[in-house]
Amino acid sequence: MSAGSPNVKEIARQRARELLEEFRVTSAPVPIEKIIKKRDIVLQYAPFEEDLSGMAYINDGLSIIGINALHHPNRQRFSAAHELGHHVLHAEHLKNAVHVDKGLRVLLRDDVSSQGVDLLEIEANAFASELLMPKDLLVKALDEGGVDMDDDTQIETLAKKFRVSASALRFRLIGLMNDPQTK
Ligand SMILES: [Zn+2]
Repeated sequence: MSAGSPNVKEIARQRARELLEEFRVTSAPVPIEKIIKKRDIVLQYAPFEEDLSGMAYINDGLSIIGINALHHPNRQRFSAAHELGHHVLHAEHLKNAVHVDKGLRVLLRDDVSSQGVDLLEIEANAFASELLMPKDLLVKALDEGGVDMDDDTQIETLAKKFRVSASALRFRLIGLMNDPQTK
């Protein structure tokens, strides 16, 4: 991880927390579709090719998010939050070209070993994680039940509560445990 990346991630998380406050989200699951629509962003679902998770663009002033309708609903939610992140954080980039997100990189790109790690993706992922799995709500859920990272059933129960994939939740929990920047 480069020295600069915790800061940009923290800025992205802060924007997500501001949205959670604005929409008075106090319990899981976070109403991601409602948040997107209330921001006047058109949310479209279409059967894209398997490795395409979502896209974001602005056409004639109209903000649009496209999500792969063939993916699992929990993955669709993460993609929607990621694309919302691009609209909130990177609107100026979306006016010039359609931003297309392909494959697992949406989740796994936040990794020092990734070649050509794109700052925009790191920021959008940090935003999406914080938005769908807010630290406060996660800590509250953990306080109530605790979680054993090796217990798949526990992870899946918690993932179900937040309507995220088990892999996204693991990634988030590991991030919370390892990243002192995460507040
Ligand atoms: Zn992206």
